[in-house]
Amino acid sequence: MHQPAVPHLAASDPEVAALVEGEARRQFDTVRLIASENYVSTAVLEATGTVLTNKYSEGYAGKRYYEGQQVVDQVETLAVERAKALFGVDHANVQPYSGSPANLAVYLALANPGDTVMGMALPAGGHLTHGWSVSATGKWFRSVQYGVRKDTGRVDLDEVRDLARAERPKLIFCGGTAIPRTIDFAGFAEIAREVDAVLVADIAHIAGLVAGGAHPSPVGHARIISTTTHKTLRGPRGAMLMSDAEFAKPLDKAVFPGLQGGPHNHTTAAIAVALGEAARPDFREYAANIVANAKALAAALSERGFDLVTGGTDNHLVLVDVTSKGVGGKPAAQALDRAGIEVNYNTVPFDPRKPFDPSGIRLGTGAITTRGLGVEQMPRIAQWIDRVVSAVDDEAEIEKVAAEVRELLAAYPMPGWA
Ligand SMILES: *Cc1c(COP(=O)(O)O)cnc(C)c1O
Repeated sequence: MHQPAVPHLAASDPEVAALVEGEARRQFDTVRLIASENYVSTAVLEATGTVLTNKYSEGYAGKRYYEGQQVVDQVETLAVERAKALFGVDHANVQPYSGSPANLAVYLALANPGDTVMGMALPAGGHLTHGWSVSATGKWFRSVQYGVRKDTGRVDLDEVRDLARAERPKLIFCGGTAIPRTIDFAGFAEIAREVDAVLVADIAHIAGLVAGGAHPSPVGHARIISTTTHKTLRGPRGAMLMSDAEFAKPLDKAVFPGLQGGPHNHTTAAIAVALGEAARPDFREYAANIVANAKALAAALSERGFDLVTGGTDNHLVLVDVTSKGVGGKPAAQALDRAGIEVNYNTVPFDPRKPFDPSGIRLGTGAITTRGLGVEQMPRIAQWIDRVVSAVDDEAEIEKVAAEVRELLAAYPMPGWA
């Protein structure tokens, strides 16, 4: 049953209640390896379901456009102070509705349409909002994109430097959605300084690792840090922008009134709760375990003949080229889904296949680490993945794996399910 229970929802709208129960059950019965997902704590879930959703609060604490902010000002101030303390930054804005609007606010704060901006290309592991062509950030700005080296699958800072010198971007984004290796924030910062660009570290995927000491921090290197709150950081859907004092005003003005209206106060409260959780000692253990699990999963997949982009991982993410198994990423991901193993199909660098049927699958260990799975389970998960990916049309084998998955997971409690 969903936890917290939803008796009022069940009484007033059984149709929606049944869907909520169905999704909770699905999350309980699935090895969730989507690298951007997690299980939030029951405390975070409770905070998102509170009366704070009823309140409008355009503006910032102490300077609002509506009355009745006695409590909400305290909620937002608490979230901001916790973010500043956890990441060690001068300024934090917790209002962006999600990662994409947070990044758009950075452009609005520091660039004008048509200005040159630079980010990692989507097919190489960047994010849409780092200037990819179909995104507003690629349409409204003159975007130049760096990739990874063909021989290593890794960012080549010499290439980034050459491109930055030639193009003189105003903003340089580092970070992305499919980068299995440590991001060299100091290296990017040196390049940004040289060309007089502002370095933006988008740590959406790795924020929990940074907070938990399992990935180097961009603080002191990137003058602006953008992050979602719902990936490894394990909070509600939302985002934050952090910076030196210098950028506090322009960033705040860009978020509101530049881009957004009223902040989602129930989300802000849940962000405060998640940041409180991330400041506790056990969160450091969680962050270290995420990386240990990813390394163990990568090693076990390698042993089974899977090709891993960059040969392995330093963080929570493993990018697997499934071509060696004679299958594309999409049929592999779909078969895994039927087996109770949830991944997404993903391009690999220099992918010869199409974006909606690329060569890879992307795996992440945030959610399964929260669930309590440890390195000793990773060879088993790799074995399941191998069995399914090697037999995507064998429904009997897939059903066998699904039963084994359910049996293992029954022993691991899930926050949000009782
Ligand atoms: C997930 C992600 C985003 C966007 O977040 P949304 O909440 O999906 O809008 C931005 N940048 C990076 C690097 C991400 O991984």
